[in-house]
Amino acid sequence: MSSPYRIHHVIGGQVVPSTSGRTAPVYNPATGQVQGLVDLGSAAELDAAVQAARRAWPAWADQPPLARARVMQRLLARLREGADELARVIVREHGKTLPDAQGEVARAIEVVEFACGIPQLLKGEYTEQVARGIDAWSVRQPLGVVAGITPFNFPAMVPMWMIPMALACGNAFILKPSERDPSASLLLARWLHEAGVPDGLFSVVQGDREVVDAILAHPQIAAVSFVGSTPVAEHIYAEGARHGKRVQALGGAKNHLVVMPDADLDQAVEALMGAAYGSAGERCMAISVAVAVGDVADALVARLAERVRAMRVGEGHQPDADMGPLITAAACERIAASIAQGVGGGAVPVVDGRVLRVAGYEQGFFLGGTLLDHVTPEMGVYRDELFGPVLCVVRVPDVAAAVRLIHAHPYGNGVALFTRDGGTARAFVREIDVGMVGVNVPLPVPMAFHSFGGWKRSLFGDHHAYGPEGVRFYTRAKAVMQRWPDGPATPGGSFAFPSSA
Ligand code: NAD
Repeated sequence: MSSPYRIHHVIGGQVVPSTSGRTAPVYNPATGQVQGLVDLGSAAELDAAVQAARRAWPAWADQPPLARARVMQRLLARLREGADELARVIVREHGKTLPDAQGEVARAIEVVEFACGIPQLLKGEYTEQVARGIDAWSVRQPLGVVAGITPFNFPAMVPMWMIPMALACGNAFILKPSERDPSASLLLARWLHEAGVPDGLFSVVQGDREVVDAILAHPQIAAVSFVGSTPVAEHIYAEGARHGKRVQALGGAKNHLVVMPDADLDQAVEALMGAAYGSAGERCMAISVAVAVGDVADALVARLAERVRAMRVGEGHQPDADMGPLITAAACERIAASIAQGVGGGAVPVVDGRVLRVAGYEQGFFLGGTLLDHVTPEMGVYRDELFGPVLCVVRVPDVAAAVRLIHAHPYGNGVALFTRDGGTARAFVREIDVGMVGVNVPLPVPMAFHSFGGWKRSLFGDHHAYGPEGVRFYTRAKAVMQRWPDGPATPGGSFAFPSSA
């Protein structure tokens, strides 16, 4: 077997091996073999990235927005050329299927397309004559050096929710990618460099908690974007705020799809299959609960069961694979244990993925698609985010009970409703306590020119990711009032609070 490849930092425009001596294994999840070793950085390496960013930042912030937009245009061209290469790197370390990885890259590219319009997005507001002889305007200015900490499940798309927005707004950016599938970050760094991003303005510091803690405590990092699990998101939000930083921390999810008795069942089943089992359920917008309303449950479960049994699970490059492996052996074990607990508590395993073996990949981190019926809200398999290919069916009598169920859940990332009734859909959309809502759409992931974010314990902070909210997060407002004196000073008026009168 060949020796593992190495994944280093990119600091100040150079690929730099770590001096910490610490590394983590990067697995091929389909074979279960260690294929790479990623450096785990230190506070000193993070500081080197911050100092490089501080050197590069003033000139970048001084560039006209159109000049920064042109760098984004070149990045766009580079990403389009390299899309397939990037997708294959994702498959190799994450395990998802190639079409799924290509979809991820396409979504990443869309954020760059949006960032190309940054001159329009950074336009300020102006009011002439707010008082006699005085004009006022407000502008948004960059924050300085900002950092992003990203999860394993979208090793290209989630970093690209942040990087183009932060850079186009005039900031320097430091990425701490997931240590499980870090190679995509190096390709992105190379293409950013080739697009004309100055050395040091963008750095990648590989690592684990040690680098994250250093980011949170670093006095010269103004803002932190985080995407990952809820316990870590909450920690990042609290610690970042304690150190005076602006923080957006997107967390975990447990997304419900409500199937009304009048829904088009074919559409609902298709939607559930892709949304529950696509990417092996390792998506924060995955649907992990089907809420069957009224008498729809038996037919829904029967159709789903047939489809789940027919699902093809394999290595991500295999052209006929619907779903690949999970990210780690530990994830397989944790999810299998949760399924066992659910079944012990009365859930019915209509299809049990724990028995799956993939020929030729016996050591891979595979878990088959699992369908559990008669799941109830107190079960761990319902409450917890499993982040795997497990769909729970909860049966409720009516839409009001479905809404109560969803409102009682601590997460509020995404939700979907399948119905043919416009009135039911409208009331649901207005009432539901969830950040992203689909009507007859299973994964309502907003396009790049909207913004992405959940509610409740799915997001800590005030701003959603990318889109107009991303521009607000990566800039701060400055309000200016200006008068050009063209006459004598107003006598006796200077002690009262100023007004427009
Ligand atoms: P994770 O929370 O384990 O890791 C995310 C990042 O935090 C990684 O870079 C990791 O190195 C770092 N990290 C992990 N533990 C840490 C700790 N104790 N202290 C400091 N840093 C730590 O998440 P993951 O397993 O990589 O990704 C899956 C999770 O991400 C799921 O919960 C999923 O729902 C969530 N996610 C959310 C969104 C969203 O938009 N809301 C999008 C994608 C993924």
